[in-house]
Amino acid sequence: MDRVQLFIDGAFRDAAMGRTFPLYDPTRGVEVARVCEAGAADVDLAVQAARRALSGPWGQMPVAQRLQLLRAVADGVDARRDEFLALEVRDTGKPVSFAGTVDIPRGAANFRIFADMLAGQHDEAYHQDTADGRGAVHITQRSPLGVVGVICPWNLPLLLMTWKVAPALAAGNAVVVKPSEETPSTATLLGEVMRDVGIPDGVYNVVHGFGPGSAGEAIVQHPGVDAITFTGESATGRAIMAACATDLKRVSFELGGKNPALVFADCDLDAAVAGTVRSAFSNCGQICLCTERIYVERAIFEAFVARLAAAARALVPGDPLDPATGMGPLISRVHRDKVARYLKLAVAEGAVVHAGGTVDDAAGFTGGYWVQPTVWTGLDHSARVLREEIFGPVCHVMPFDTEAEAVALANDTEYGLCAAVWTRDVGRAHRVAGAIDAGMVWVNTWFLRDLRTPFGGMKASGIGREGGHYSTEFYTELKNVCIKL
Ligand code: NAD
Repeated sequence: MDRVQLFIDGAFRDAAMGRTFPLYDPTRGVEVARVCEAGAADVDLAVQAARRALSGPWGQMPVAQRLQLLRAVADGVDARRDEFLALEVRDTGKPVSFAGTVDIPRGAANFRIFADMLAGQHDEAYHQDTADGRGAVHITQRSPLGVVGVICPWNLPLLLMTWKVAPALAAGNAVVVKPSEETPSTATLLGEVMRDVGIPDGVYNVVHGFGPGSAGEAIVQHPGVDAITFTGESATGRAIMAACATDLKRVSFELGGKNPALVFADCDLDAAVAGTVRSAFSNCGQICLCTERIYVERAIFEAFVARLAAAARALVPGDPLDPATGMGPLISRVHRDKVARYLKLAVAEGAVVHAGGTVDDAAGFTGGYWVQPTVWTGLDHSARVLREEIFGPVCHVMPFDTEAEAVALANDTEYGLCAAVWTRDVGRAHRVAGAIDAGMVWVNTWFLRDLRTPFGGMKASGIGREGGHYSTEFYTELKNVCIKL
């Protein structure tokens, strides 16, 4: 796919204005494809197609048939796994060992789980006594929201996009998807799968482009879009929310984080170190759930730092296509430069560097967006490096003396997405999990997901929850019908 087209009304096409932008290989920084850039006219075509689908075949399709089609989409992703994997790795530079076990299988699984979930959905009904003795029944009906604008980031492209598209379609909506400008390919390939399994034209549309002044803004401002589901930076969420205020579009936001890990002296140290290596460095630190702030009880602080730093040094970034590689490059030059600025800032703010701290190329690659996994200590809690989301393979480790201090440090942030707690004391696990202001707390593990559970953040990390019936809540309108008997 060296030309990534738009997918509108069941057909692949160039943008109306004929504009394209380059897509770069993160391992070498060279152009690998041209992406068609949608403008307002293309977004309008997509929205009109989506509305036609809603009033036509998709809106009239029996629910069981709709859900069967979504299961076929899951099978279609599985059948073309290698193509999805190749494109995801090309766009992101993430290792096949990660994309092949996380991104692509989850992309398929999302369609199955929401098809199953909607198959079991039922209406609520209440009988009410009335003064005349005849009574009334109340039936609560659900209907789709309509056209949903789906705006996605680049870090888990297929996984996060289908995490929104699957429940939206299962609930009967039509979607206009804007993948990140950095990772347009798998959303586009999914258009082929949708078409081939028989999803009606206009149900799934993909427009490419940027945010302000481009496709993203055009979706948010389009009066024919009923709701926006967005995953990305908190600052972008604020801009989208302001734009959505004009016509009171519904919003669902999964935003940034600055997640803590709390490591108590009574933990299983091997498990805590291994878990923190994962939570700090997976996907090159580019998962919203990654832990950039690690707090360790003083009795084990030095041993923990030494072991974490040794593990970080052993994580050598390399060829994403080699199944043995555990870490690839960052997504883009812009992001690499941002992370590099934080590497400098950390030292200027007084950090001690225990591992990494540099942006050296991986062996055999020049011109890519590489950065070495980095472990710092020694910063004051007011340091910008501890306040701002960096979104790279970096973490700072700080000692604490009491449980209350650990919780206070964990909560001393504008964000509230998730936390990891490492302890063998069950009482402490309950107490600390309850006291942390975050949408998700993992105890003695990290990133263990059950897709039925609520996923999302408190504070500046989001609005609403995704997952299981929480997704259905967002993608449907409720109507109470009262029938007097
Ligand atoms: P981003 O906010 O820069 O971009 C996300 C998407 O929004 C892109 O498609 C972009 O083109 C679009 N966009 C940007 N400005 C827009 C505007 N004004 N109107 C409409 N669309 C606009 O985020 P990113 O750099 O792609 O992703 C990284 C961020 O995402 C990090 O902050 C990370 O924490 C967050 N994230 C959060 C979760 C979560 O579940 N909470 C998951 C993954 C990533």
